Amino acid sequence: MSFGQILGQESAVTILRNALLGGRLAHAYLFVGPEGVGKRLTALTLAKAMNCQFPPEAGDSCEKCSSCLKVKSSNHADVILLGPEGENIKIDQIRDLQRRLRYRPLEGGRRACIMDSADRLNDAASNAFLKTLEEPPDETHLILISSRPHQLRPTIHSRCQWIKFRALSIGHISQILKREQSLEDEKAHFYASLAGGSAGQALALSDRVDFQKRLNWLRLFTEISQKTTEEIFDTCERIAKEEEEVNDLLELWKIWVRDLLVFKIQVESAGENPGDRLINHDLRSEAAEEARRYSFDRLDFFFGLISDAQKAMAFNANRQLALETLMFEMQKNSPKNSQWDADFRRYGQKIIFSL
Ligand SMILES: [Zn+2]
Repeated sequence: MSFGQILGQESAVTILRNALLGGRLAHAYLFVGPEGVGKRLTALTLAKAMNCQFPPEAGDSCEKCSSCLKVKSSNHADVILLGPEGENIKIDQIRDLQRRLRYRPLEGGRRACIMDSADRLNDAASNAFLKTLEEPPDETHLILISSRPHQLRPTIHSRCQWIKFRALSIGHISQILKREQSLEDEKAHFYASLAGGSAGQALALSDRVDFQKRLNWLRLFTEISQKTTEEIFDTCERIAKEEEEVNDLLELWKIWVRDLLVFKIQVESAGENPGDRLINHDLRSEAAEEARRYSFDRLDFFFGLISDAQKAMAFNANRQLALETLMFEMQKNSPKNSQWDADFRRYGQKIIFSL
């Protein structure tokens, strides 16, 4: 991928291209920013551009010459890739790296060493790596990548030039999904909206949660009031087996509740068209029907319930138990029909005021 194809990171790309063009590349960079926003991709593109044989324009990569192709297939002798083996980056890996750096670049150009998750250098490896940072070999550029730079030792991060990467917009992530997975507009928009600014997360979600699964889970939300106790236990047991499955379900439900709230505020109160503001905007008529069943307060209450379940799981609560608690609480508070909710509003208010 050339620099021009990296979306949403104009500032980082400009700094790096200018440095490359001006012959001022730093010996050590620290690429920081959220997961899945293009840090590694940019590091690899920089490594290609440093050695490209036929750059289409100065300071970029052609993606076709033998040097670019070798970087792409991780076979370039002077582009060294390093990352955690198991939990950490270990001292043996750093010693190996230092042995390789003793020689001049093998292909005669410039050498790039890209270290993924640099915040996982263990203490011994950090100490050893410090020597390389203090006396970097000629024609060698170290690129450390981290989404948790505060976990790096100050002695390491203070010796690097920081390049900041931003969370990506929904529009940019949609473009990436369409390019990488040939997704249609509706699907790309949906996964991009769910991904919290991370293209990596959006790509993983589109692999994990297909559109049929999304519909099944939203149907479960709608039909929860009609489920028997036995059915709820069975459903929770099945879903709770996989951590990712539970996380995806809860995030989907939260986004559905958010869509219903948008519908209530914009359409029912202000008479506006929700347009692109719905994340599930292919389910506009379903959202309209569903929004009518609930009061604003009820949806707000459900949003809180789902968030509480997510927090409990983040603190290692038993997944199945947390899911059962959530579903029974939702069932208890689900309107059986629209009249039920209207009654709740009317009588609920009276009860609150009479207390
Ligand atoms: Zn090239």
